[in-house]
Amino acid sequence: MRIVVLAGGIGGARFLLGVRAYAREVGAEVTAVVNVGDDLLLHGLKVCPDLDSVMYTLGGGADPERGWGRVGETWTVKSELAAYGAEPTWFGLGDKDIATHLVRTTMLNAGYPLSQVTEALATRWQPGVRLLPATDDRLETHVVVSGRSEPAVASSADPVGADGGQRAIHFQEWWVRHRAEIPTHRFVFVGAETAKPAPGVLEAIGAADVVLVAPSNPVVSIAPILAVPGLREAVADGPAPVVGVSPIIGGAPVRGMADRCLAVLGVECSAAGVGGLYGGRSAGGLLDGWLVAPEDEGTVVPDVTVRSAPLRMTDEAATATMVRAALELV
Ligand code: GDP
Ligand code: CA
Repeated sequence: MRIVVLAGGIGGARFLLGVRAYAREVGAEVTAVVNVGDDLLLHGLKVCPDLDSVMYTLGGGADPERGWGRVGETWTVKSELAAYGAEPTWFGLGDKDIATHLVRTTMLNAGYPLSQVTEALATRWQPGVRLLPATDDRLETHVVVSGRSEPAVASSADPVGADGGQRAIHFQEWWVRHRAEIPTHRFVFVGAETAKPAPGVLEAIGAADVVLVAPSNPVVSIAPILAVPGLREAVADGPAPVVGVSPIIGGAPVRGMADRCLAVLGVECSAAGVGGLYGGRSAGGLLDGWLVAPEDEGTVVPDVTVRSAPLRMTDEAATATMVRAALELV
């Protein structure tokens, strides 16, 4: 059996722990197609937050409390950078984590594509699933928000600035620095038009027995994956059934700020809202099945089979049970 999982960072990583446990039981092969929209260059280093969350979590090196970064992390470099006043100060890189970014950046600068770099990093972490970035090309989630560019470009003659009072900032600046709390208009996946699926992605989807959409943020984790030309089509028109797992339980995200992302799209923050956003495969959407929490029993998504099961990923065994429920749906 071959399982492909579309995954973001923390929610994707925890879900993959359960998928891997299930796969070990039944002898299945797992490929994770991971979001790169959050990736950024910091102090000259290429940082891939979602790939790293998945790699560290599956490799047993993640900080379980924070959910991101390395366990037993220290922050010497961060405080030294702050002593220089080096911007950005709102994004913290841990010392251990920096080693990952140094290796990655060196390999990228030497000409290796991100997919090969990811494979090389994974030889250390042995995640037990194949990790593929959605694309090797630049695809960055930017957020169009109100307010003029910084430094301020407005003058008395042009009080809102030449940009008409809107500007695009990197997703991480919106999420980490502004806590998604500023007036927001839309998300833009910069580079998406010309991005190509990373080597192996379309092949894995085409050969899959089932595609699972992890309970990741639908707007900023799953949507940028699907924005890679050809990728959404491969899933939606492919031979494998597609089952999604809701990241929203009882009208709220389990953690994080998916509610703020959904609000920007005008989508209700509910299992039904996210299921409807993905849509039914037979109606031009993505899903055959949608797994919701018992709290959301009775959720209806047109053209999609909806079932309920406990969806809190408290430990690996509970998550593996949840994965089994998702697979039984199709
Ligand atoms: P990020 O890239 O690190 O933000 O992580 P993801 O996009 O992969 O996952 C974030 C989503 O995971 C949030 O919308 C959460 O609601 C969801 N999530 C986190 N923990 C759980 C859980 O235990 N159960 C479910 N169903 N969703 C969860
Ligand atoms: Ca992310």
